[in-house]
Amino acid sequence: MAPADQAGDGLFAQGFKETPYWWEAAAPPPETAPGLPDRVDVAIVGGGYCGLNAALELARRGASVAVLEAERIGFGASSRNGGMVSGGIKLASMGLDAHLGTERAGRLVAEAMGSLPFLEDLIAREGIAADYARSGRFLGAWSAAHFRTMEGQVELYRRLTGMRAEALPPARQREEIGSDYYRGGLVAEAFGSLHPAKYHQGLAEATRKAGARLVDGTRVTGVARDAGGFRVGTARGDFAAKDVVVATNGYTGALTPWMRRRVIPVGSYMVATEPLAPGVAREILPTGRMISDSKRVMAYYRLSPDGTRVLFGGRASFRPVTAGVAAPVLHARMLEIWPRLAGTRITHAWTGNVAFTFDFLPHMGMHEGVHYALGCQGSGVAMMSYLGNQLALKIAGGANRASAFDGLPFPTRPLYAGNPWFLPAVGLAYRVRDWLDRRVA
Ligand SMILES: Cc1cc2nc3c(=O)[nH]c(=O)nc-3n(C[C@H](O)[C@H](O)[C@H](O)COP(=O)(O)OP(=O)(O)OC[C@H]3O[C@@H](n4cnc5c(N)ncnc54)[C@H](O)[C@@H]3O)c2cc1C
Repeated sequence: MAPADQAGDGLFAQGFKETPYWWEAAAPPPETAPGLPDRVDVAIVGGGYCGLNAALELARRGASVAVLEAERIGFGASSRNGGMVSGGIKLASMGLDAHLGTERAGRLVAEAMGSLPFLEDLIAREGIAADYARSGRFLGAWSAAHFRTMEGQVELYRRLTGMRAEALPPARQREEIGSDYYRGGLVAEAFGSLHPAKYHQGLAEATRKAGARLVDGTRVTGVARDAGGFRVGTARGDFAAKDVVVATNGYTGALTPWMRRRVIPVGSYMVATEPLAPGVAREILPTGRMISDSKRVMAYYRLSPDGTRVLFGGRASFRPVTAGVAAPVLHARMLEIWPRLAGTRITHAWTGNVAFTFDFLPHMGMHEGVHYALGCQGSGVAMMSYLGNQLALKIAGGANRASAFDGLPFPTRPLYAGNPWFLPAVGLAYRVRDWLDRRVA
C-alpha cells in the first residue's frame, strides 16, 4: 500500500506528503519555460546553489548569463537538504598532505573553511531571510573508539576554527541530546544552520535582480564547440554561449559522460515529524544544535527552524526507493535515539541526490573547455555555493589566485559509467562495520 494511502494509520499523519517539509515555506515556483536567448556570455547548466552563485557573481560583473534548469528552479538537492552548514573542517582530518603535499592540502582546508564565512557574508549582503544561525554541531560518537578519535581532534578544531570545541564524555552528552544512544560526542560551535529552500529562493531572487536569466523546464541535451565558443542544445532550441558551466552535482547525467563517470549519485532521505508536544523539543535537543554521528550509515537531524519538529535524515536505503518507503526506516532510527517519540507521526518524507567522488573531495575545473564544480559528499550548502562563486571569478578573470580546488586530479574507476551498481554492497559492508564498531570498542 502506498504511504499516502496509510495516512492517519499511526506512522503517517493526516495529509502526509512526499515532498520536502521546506517547500511548505518556499516551494520551487511552477515552471514557466521562458524563451531562450540567442547568445549569452555564460550558459550555466543546473539551477542549484552552485549554478546560481556562479550566475550571481558573473551577472554582477556585467556578463550576460542564462541558467538552464531541467525542472523547476530549486528542484535539486538545494531545496531538499538538511540545512546544516559545515565549514569544511572534515578535510583537515583526511590526511591530504600525504598525496597532495602540505602546501596544497593546507590551501584546500583553508578554502573549505572559508566557505562558511563566504556563505554568511552572502546571506547578510543579499538580505536573504534564510533563518540562518551559528547554531553549532554535536557529532555523536557511535563507539568508545570513535569518542577517543574525537578527543584527539578537539585541539585541531579549536586551532582551525578559533571557536569552542569540546569532547563530551557519555556522562555529559545529555547537555546536548536527551538520549544515551551515543558514547559521548564532539560539540563544535563553528557550524551553522539555515532553511535550505528559503536560502535557495532568496538566492534565485538576487540572481534574477542582478540580471541573469533563469530558464526553468529546459534540459540541456548537448554542448558542442563552435567558432565563438559553444552551441548549447535543449529540447526547446539552441543558442550560443562563450562559456559553459556544468553545475549538476548529484543529478549529473548523459549530457556530460566524462563528469558522470566521476560522480557517484547517492540518494539521501529525510522525514519531518508533526509538531512535538510543548516542552519535548527542548528536552530532546536542549541546545538546538545540528546533530550528526560517526556511524558509517550515519544519521543527521535537527529541529525545524521554528523549533517545533524533528527533521531526521540519513541513508535509509542503498538502492533507489521512494521517500515513502524510506520513511519507516528513518522513523525507526529516530526511535532508537528517542524511544519516547514512538507516537510521533511523520508529515513529510522526501529524497534527493548527493554527489560523492572517488577521492571524497569536491572538484572544480575544466574538461574539453567546459567548466564544472561537482561533488560535495553530502556537505554542499556552503561548499557548492563557494565553488560556484569561484568558477565565476575564474571565468570573469576576477580571482587573485586560482582556487586550490581547481584542476585537482579527478579520479574515476574502471567499469563505472555513472550507475552506482556497487552501492548495495557498500551499504552492507557499512552496516557490518557499524555493528562491529559498537561491539569491539
Ligand atoms: C536529502 C539531502 C540532505 C542534505 N543535507 C545537507 C546538509 O545538511 N548540509 C549540507 O551542507 N549539504 C547537504 N546536502 C547536500 C547539498 O544539498 C548539496 O551539496 C547542494 O545543494 C548541491 O548544490 P548544487 O547546486 O551543486 O546541485 P543541485 O542543487 O542538486 O542542483 C543541480 C541541478 O541540476 C539540474 N540538472 C541536471 N542535469 C541537467 C541538464 N542536463 N539540464 C538542465 N538542468 C540539469 C537538476 O535538475 C538540479 O536541479 C544534502 C543533500 C540532500 C539530497
